[in-house]
Amino acid sequence: AIVARNVRKSFGQVEVLRGITLEVRFGEVFGMIGPSGSGKSTFLRCLNSLETVDDGDVYVNGEFVGYRFQDGVLRQLDDRELSAQRMRTGMVFQRFNLFAHMTALENVCCGPMVVQGVAREEAHKTGRALLDQVGLKGYYDRYPVQLSGGQQQRVAIARAMAMKPEILLFDEPTSALDPELVDEVLETIKALAKEGRTMVVVTHELAFARDVCDRVAFMDEGQLVECATSAELFGAPKMPRTRDFLQRLN
Ligand code: ATP
Ligand code: MG
Repeated sequence: AIVARNVRKSFGQVEVLRGITLEVRFGEVFGMIGPSGSGKSTFLRCLNSLETVDDGDVYVNGEFVGYRFQDGVLRQLDDRELSAQRMRTGMVFQRFNLFAHMTALENVCCGPMVVQGVAREEAHKTGRALLDQVGLKGYYDRYPVQLSGGQQQRVAIARAMAMKPEILLFDEPTSALDPELVDEVLETIKALAKEGRTMVVVTHELAFARDVCDRVAFMDEGQLVECATSAELFGAPKMPRTRDFLQRLN
């Protein structure tokens, strides 16, 4: 469902992605771990063209990200085409960025209504079902300030799902949360994983990656050091750098 080939990205003089090649299969829950600054977020952002890659290419469900062929020539997508393409991947960030002046339900429904032209009644019906699904039945009319961090993040997950994306991307969805709120969000993501959705989860929660992800990639200094099933990567890491990283955290 996702194919990245030799993806390179620099910020100024610093090359933060140094040739990333990987494949995420349809229905797979794919974890990405690695030290701070290793390029995990940057890579995730390349998957839905929040960043443009300098070299290499990215395909999401067969579509070339950021570009298309026209008359045999590669052409950059215009803004409208880009936003249509972005809708195919839903992104959940570390900080939930809910709209403060909107209720939970309005936050979930505004994308479908404004961007996809879904009628209000239908959007609300779907929105309520999604909030129920993330365990927020009865919280429809709360504003973000009236919700805990964990509840806000679950609204953000429902909001990403409201656009019916084919792939969900999570960038450290629990690292801004108080420790006691982490589990409820991880449980929500786990439940989505069980539905057979294609998901990429960047996380510092190694136990979660081990238990929930089908395969896990370890990144370090802009390189994909090792990619294996979660059992292999955590149980018998092959590369010394992976071993070092996992050991330091134990
Ligand atoms: P963390 O675990 O802390 O979130 P990460 O693995 O997600 O780290 P990235 O956020 O992808 O790492 O950053 C990789 C490197 O790129 C870092 O050195 C960072 O400072 C740099 N970087 C990221 N975004 C930008 C930007 N917009 N401009 C310049 N440098 C950037
Ligand atoms: Mg990051």
